[in-house]
This record gives sequence, structure tokens and C-alpha cells, in this order.
Amino acid sequence: MSPDSLYQLRCRECGKTWGNVPRSFCEDCFSPLEVAYDYDALKKIARRENLSSRSFNMWRYSELLPLGEGFTPPTATGGTPLVLSHKLAAQWGIKNLYLKNDAVCFPSLSFKDRVVGTALAAARRFGFETVGCSSTGNLANAVAAQAAQQGFDACVFIPADLEPAKVLNTAVYGARIVRINGNYDHVNRLCAQIADRFQWGLVNVNLRPYYSEGSKTHGYEIAEQLGWRLPDNVVVPMAGGSLITKIAKAFKELVTLGWVNDKPVKFFGAQATGCSPISDGVKRNLARFEPQKPNTIARSLAIGNPADGPFAMKLIRDSGGWAEDVSDPEIVDAIQLLAETEGIFTETAGGVTVGVTRKLFAQNRIKPEETTVICITGNGLKTTDAIAAEFPATEAIAPRLEAFEAYLDAQLGATAAGAKT
Ligand SMILES: *Cc1c(COP(=O)(O)O)cnc(C)c1O
Ligand SMILES: [Zn+2]
Repeated sequence: MSPDSLYQLRCRECGKTWGNVPRSFCEDCFSPLEVAYDYDALKKIARRENLSSRSFNMWRYSELLPLGEGFTPPTATGGTPLVLSHKLAAQWGIKNLYLKNDAVCFPSLSFKDRVVGTALAAARRFGFETVGCSSTGNLANAVAAQAAQQGFDACVFIPADLEPAKVLNTAVYGARIVRINGNYDHVNRLCAQIADRFQWGLVNVNLRPYYSEGSKTHGYEIAEQLGWRLPDNVVVPMAGGSLITKIAKAFKELVTLGWVNDKPVKFFGAQATGCSPISDGVKRNLARFEPQKPNTIARSLAIGNPADGPFAMKLIRDSGGWAEDVSDPEIVDAIQLLAETEGIFTETAGGVTVGVTRKLFAQNRIKPEETTVICITGNGLKTTDAIAAEFPATEAIAPRLEAFEAYLDAQLGATAAGAKT
């Protein structure tokens, strides 16, 4: 990993540096902090050749992450498949479509395992014993799982109406769960006060700059799996707007370090229409997004006042990309489409990304021959309630051949029944 002298927190507006401390905004101008690196020094120690002897997971990029002296990887997080699409691409009449599949990210089946990986490294170095988060579901799962494994106490804060599977997937690890009567934005405001009052490491609050660096590994892996090449387009689901900006940071760093050739990459953001402050801002060409009150089945993306919204909007615009959103029925459709064509079962956020990608091709904002990567960020088993109505239970039959024949006749009708003999 990098020696601590190679990175520190820096204000994204005024540029003031703050060393390495558990805080997320500049005390001078109240703008967000991010981890800034000394890339000239990094160039000397971070070499692509070093990777060849390392396992394929997010820790292979340790030099490019703020991990603290003496850090040893606790568990093999990340290292997910990049799948070349055949049937989905054929159906859309396009080529060179890839799916980065964090639905199978270890250990808790979403890309949030990556951000919790770097956040808990920071929690350890700063001496926190209790960690937590404000969460739309997946982050709570990841915090609970990794806290259990690493011996932290966990206390997570969630909106009261989260999907039952997401709540259970947190509870099973023994984390304390505090359900809040309110939406994510209420939960997050409360967590800012809690981080002030208690000596707790809240991964996306006072540890947020370290947390968000973990998202970069999703981008590093895409470039490496394309054969150390950048794609033409990436389509990224947006909640707080952090992931999309960190994939961009990852690509830029790889260019700076000379690991990939520079080329323009267009960034496309995906949201649910029922919570679309960022895509709405892009589509209406607003200077600043307008906060919304979320109302969508894509609960993992339901952040009405996204912390990194302004940075996501700027990135999308500067890159020549675009943002779109899809309705709840379109999300359900897209979940089924991805499952039926590629054998990948994603959660509602993945339905958003696939549905938006379909729109972007239809609008010709993405060209059929270009290399496009769709980021699938979470697992469908966590949001089965969103699609359950599409698949009512079928009638059970007796364990007899005649019963099956009768069943087939009823299913297929007279024509098919005739063809069978
Ligand atoms: C949190 C989350 C996102 C978006 O993350 P941000 O960095 O907040 O934009 C995307 N997909 C899933 C499944 C998530 O849980
Ligand atoms: Zn500042």
C-alpha cells in the first residue's frame, strides 16, 4: 500500500489540505473533502507489473487506495466478472456490450462491499470500535458483514420502509439496526449529528472520503478486464452520485500512471424516474439539481438530495455523456430482460441501468459499434418483492404422467396437444 505521506484529504473547492482524519467536509468553506494523491511519487512505486502475482480482487490495486501503514487485506472483496453480452447485444442490434457484474461481489453481493473495504481500513487506523452508516440497504449489508468479520461493533441506520430481504441481510450478521421513520435524506441528516456526538466511524459520513475511494476499484477492474483499455462509454446507476465520479477518477489515474492510453470516455448516469434529481438536472440543463422526494421501487437509488450530485452532473456534461431515467414498470421489464438474455439476476438498481441503456441506444446517444460497459451493482435476490407479482405461483399437480400430460394440454392448448402424438 501507499505510505501515508502519499495521500491526504483535500477540499474539492478551496484546495486546502487536512492530512488524514475522519472528516468529510472542509471547515473553512464547508465543501466536500476527497483523498488527493502525490501521483509523481506514486508512479515510482505503483507499477502494472506488480499486479501479475496478485489475486484478482480489489486489493490488487492497494497502492492506489488510502489504506494506512501495515494494512493487510481482510477478505477477497471485488474481482467480479466482466461479461461480454451476446444475446442482449444481439437483441438491441449492437456490438461490444459488456456487463460489469457486481451482483456477485463478495461478501454481501453488491458494489458497496468495495467502499466498505476502504472505509473499514480507515476506521481501523483512526481507532474506531463501532462503525455504521446511513443506508438505502446494500451499504448496511456490506457494513454488517465486514464489521462482523473484522470484529467491529456495527450500528446501521435505514429508512423504515426498506425491502425485507435487505433488512434481514443486515440483521443476520448481528448488526444493530435502527429503523427511521423517514426517507434516506432524513436518515443521513441524523447520522451527521450522530457522528459528531459519538466516537463512531460512519462509513459514508465522517469516513466518506475513504469510503468513496473503494468505488475506484470497480473502474480499475473494468480497464484491466478490457485488456488495459478504457471503454468508449460507461452506464452507471446513481444514488448519491459517488460511484460514477469515482469510476472517472479511476480511469484518469490509470492514464496518469501510464497503465492505459488516454481516450475520451463518455459517462452516462442512470436513475429511476421516481427519484431522478441528477438525471432531471442533466436533461433540463439546470445549473444545480432540484432535490426530490423519492417514490420508486429502486430503493437502493432513492436519494433525493445526492451529496455528489453536482460532481456527477459536471462529469456527465464534460464527458459528452447524458443521463436518463426509467419508470418502475420499465425497471421490472429490464430486470427480466437481463435475466432472460444473460442469465444475470440483478436488483432494481440493475434494472434501472439496463432500462436506461436501452433508452440511450434508442436515442442514438450511444453508437452500436462503440465499446460500452453497463455497471450492474447489486443482486436480484435482495429485491424479489419488486418482481414477485410478475411470477404468481403455478398450480401443483399429482406425481403421475397423466397429470403432467393434462397439465401440458391445458398449458399449450389443443394445437400443441395434437402435435405431441
Ligand atoms: C449505492 C448503490 C448505487 C449508487 O451509489 P452512489 O455511489 O451513491 O451513486 C448503485 N447501485 C446500488 C445497488 C447501490 O446500492
Ligand atoms: Zn475548502
